[in-house]
Amino acid sequence: MRAEIPADVRLLVSSRAARRCEYCLLHEEDSFTPHQIDHIISRKHGGSSSPDNLAFACIRCNAWKGSDIASLGFEPDRVSPLFHPRKDRWLDHFRLEAGEIIPLTSVGAATVRLLRLNLLGRVTERRVLIQCRRYPRKEP
Ligand SMILES: [Zn+2]
Repeated sequence: MRAEIPADVRLLVSSRAARRCEYCLLHEEDSFTPHQIDHIISRKHGGSSSPDNLAFACIRCNAWKGSDIASLGFEPDRVSPLFHPRKDRWLDHFRLEAGEIIPLTSVGAATVRLLRLNLLGRVTERRVLIQCRRYPRKEP
């Protein structure tokens, strides 16, 4: 069952993120589909629908993330939590390099892989947006 997010909460989450996906930084205006409200800790794991557990996410990040909350990071056989937009700073876990999102930590590595942040089409899209000075819209 899908949780309905009240319009005022959606607006809060969207504006708090400056309308960018909090995982890949894609601005909603540069997406063919509206961004979505992500439960950072999914409801099936006990996460709430309070703003502290919500993030603004593009459809691709949200779809790849699904209800996952962890994956393997840099070290084999060691589970790492995914990037948590309310608790973590993007620049502590990732950096941008020619359109690619480079992980700096195990949290970053787990997130980059699980959310398929560097699929060729996504990197190509970012490179085009960089050339158009549309990505990233402001410093993360
Ligand atoms: Zn995204």
